[in-house]
Amino acid sequence: MTSKLSLSRRRVLQKAAAALGGGAATLLTGVPAAAQSRTASTTQTPSAAGQRFRGFVRFASSASLQELKLLPVSPLQVVVRTEAAQICYTTTAVALGTANVAQAVIPGHGGVGTVIEVGLQVKRVQVGDRVIVSGGSQCGECYNCLHGRADRCLMANGGGDPNAPIAEMRDGTKVTGFRGGCAELIVAFESYCVPVFTKVSSVELAMLHDVGMVGLAATMNVAPVEPGADVAVLGCGPLGLSAVQGARIKGAARIVAVDPIKARRELALKVGATLALDPNAEGNNLVQKIQELCAAPTDRRLAGGGYRGPDFVIEAVGGDLFPPKAEIGPDPTGLLSLQQAWQLCSPTGHLVTTSVGHPPGATISFPANQWANGSKNHHPGNVAGAQAKRDLLRYVKLIEAGRFDAKSLATATFPLERAREAFEAAAYRTTVAAVIAIA
Ligand SMILES: [Zn+2]
Ligand SMILES: [Zn+2]
Repeated sequence: MTSKLSLSRRRVLQKAAAALGGGAATLLTGVPAAAQSRTASTTQTPSAAGQRFRGFVRFASSASLQELKLLPVSPLQVVVRTEAAQICYTTTAVALGTANVAQAVIPGHGGVGTVIEVGLQVKRVQVGDRVIVSGGSQCGECYNCLHGRADRCLMANGGGDPNAPIAEMRDGTKVTGFRGGCAELIVAFESYCVPVFTKVSSVELAMLHDVGMVGLAATMNVAPVEPGADVAVLGCGPLGLSAVQGARIKGAARIVAVDPIKARRELALKVGATLALDPNAEGNNLVQKIQELCAAPTDRRLAGGGYRGPDFVIEAVGGDLFPPKAEIGPDPTGLLSLQQAWQLCSPTGHLVTTSVGHPPGATISFPANQWANGSKNHHPGNVAGAQAKRDLLRYVKLIEAGRFDAKSLATATFPLERAREAFEAAAYRTTVAAVIAIA
């Protein structure tokens, strides 16, 4: 009732402002009319409901490109015409059929595109806006958002049913998949959508909407890397390579990247690592080697010496969802990397863990005295404290300024017709970042 009344009042004010011209709008709000963002969508934008579009759909035990019909959107939702979307490794299990799904679904964690419809209560996004649809929500109003942890926004999927249908197949089968980027249209809640005003290409922007944002946040948010620091990054997928770049941008002196895949180590060196190590070649010496590399040049404690191990460790390995068709790491469960990350971190350093995919119920152990009484700072969470609405805008500026090399990370692009190959390239680690490029 309240929102209906306030909407009506807003309509009256805006109609009056429109009738009186821009000067009146300035009087009403203190902001010139041209610069005003709409406080809410006061008129129904053209509905895209009923539009036919193609999407890669996992249904029962198979996945294929389907012709779909868009269902009407709810008041807080946005419809985006997709330009590009990066494949997130986490979504490969759904897309390629190893994870159980309750209903037909468009897999994906966001994308990049242009808005073609907004729901009645949408405030920040307008039709025609180019937007990054983030992998994560930031409503700005829930308990966690208000406590600076938008990466744990409680209003994911609008706070409602994450499996609510957004489209239907020709036979009437309902299809879900909020923010699923592997389709010509994306339906997302406004809290995931960030308007961007840039000439950066969609493929480059796609390096940011999900894992790239997390990799950068891992070096800038929960444990900001300090200039001159020593940093170790375990895992050089698109997330780890974004963390390598974040460490470089923050001014780290030494950046040690670790990955079993040669092509990923080479890319790590290209985008900012000062050393790249193969965990298979290093074996049990990996921890000690990195600790020694990141040790003080003197034992004289009152001369700044006596420490050992990197100041910051970013762990981005995780369990294998599929057997890699590239060089296989020393531990498919990803647990060894978690243990090593903890061990090699300096006694007062910061450890950011971002990985997923460990075996269900798996545990790791730490020395009790260190866990209880040590001073290593552990920052868990696979979104690394990212705040999409704030961070994506500055990450876009880092691409524009030539500081974040998104082009080098986008190692393979695929048209929508080859979506399966894109998921396979990500799942089998035969490329760094697979991108669906539609426009
Ligand atoms: Zn993701
Ligand atoms: Zn929230």
